[in-house]
Amino acid sequence: MKYWILVWGLLGALGAFGQAPAGTTLLRPAAIFDGQDMHPGWAVLVEGERIKAVGPAAQLAAPAGATTLELPGLTLLPGLIEGHSHLLLHPYNETSWNDQVLTEPLALRVARATVHARRTVQAGFTTARDLGTEGAGYADVGLKQAIDQGIIPGPRLLVATRALVATGSYGPHLAAVEDLPQGAQEADGTDNLIRAVREQIGHGADVVKVYADYRWGPNDTPQPTFSLEELTLIVQTARSAGRGVVAHASTAEGMRRATLAGVETIEHGDGGTLEVFQLMKQRGVAFCPTVAATDAISQYKGWQRGQPAPPRVLNKHRAMQAALQAGVTLVVGGDVGVFAHGDNARELELLVQDYGLAPLAVLRAATSGNARTFHLADRGRLAPGLLADLVAVAGDPTQQIIALRQVKLVLKGGEVVQ
Ligand SMILES: [Zn+2]
Repeated sequence: MKYWILVWGLLGALGAFGQAPAGTTLLRPAAIFDGQDMHPGWAVLVEGERIKAVGPAAQLAAPAGATTLELPGLTLLPGLIEGHSHLLLHPYNETSWNDQVLTEPLALRVARATVHARRTVQAGFTTARDLGTEGAGYADVGLKQAIDQGIIPGPRLLVATRALVATGSYGPHLAAVEDLPQGAQEADGTDNLIRAVREQIGHGADVVKVYADYRWGPNDTPQPTFSLEELTLIVQTARSAGRGVVAHASTAEGMRRATLAGVETIEHGDGGTLEVFQLMKQRGVAFCPTVAATDAISQYKGWQRGQPAPPRVLNKHRAMQAALQAGVTLVVGGDVGVFAHGDNARELELLVQDYGLAPLAVLRAATSGNARTFHLADRGRLAPGLLADLVAVAGDPTQQIIALRQVKLVLKGGEVVQ
């Protein structure tokens, strides 16, 4: 806590908050993680909203008028990038997804989302790819504007707006009620799909999200939804407008079709086989396993950690093993919203603690890796000219991933996040 107060005092005196331009600040932590490696004894010079210089502290002098921030015992790293969130959802053990979509007024959902956005950035996640409003229309576009205009604190957003589903394949569903509002936009076939993709882009979609499969029908069996031709059309329409496509897929066939259609990332992948992950690797499709959502949903259904893992968790382990064996690029994203916003580090912790990944590999993936996959060349690393999105945590997260829970300072575009 004392660092917050210290930084508040120093930068506050320089008028670094609000609309005033941030000044020049030399940050001297115990070490920096630059998005690739640890560098003990290095420092970072920030000028305005950008990083001016990075290097050994002895070689980085603070220019006249600059503020020096001593951050002893802290590691400074690039702002973390959340790969899969839903700011318009809150944990399902508070309110079921169905009830959120069907009964919560839009204003209530947006009001909650403003709090979610603040918690996300305070947790050190300065960018988030938000993958669908789940029935809240284009509210993510407005949220993004409110954050960008400095009205509310929050991460820099990539938004997907409504997302696309094949007619009848998504929810909510109640056997006795027809024509319920849906959690995503239904569209099928050539004309309809092209129009829907363009509508979403017109409203502000940075990425197009498509559900390549879903628990479809009364028995809730996961089945592919769109045909390969439909998925290809979605990708072509989005790509011609400079947008990538993200696919929800948990069946091997849904994943295979999405990969062949040319999506950029596949979310969940629970039923992925070695063969399909090898195809993803070959086609350059990245994998976002959302292990934290699997963990959360299993616990909501009564599983306690330490007990034998339920099928849902076992499937995820099988899929992760195959993905790692195939060498697929990993996206770090927890499907936050299923569990609490601000708890984003849960995905990184579980990847290390339950799935055996090295903390360094997970940190690389959550910073420079996600930035590369999401085409965000201006962040994800600590290097001159990049955005001054920085997080300082106590300890060394490349040794103990749990250090990510000890966030002491967040800068976004050179300004302290309150
Ligand atoms: Zn999701």
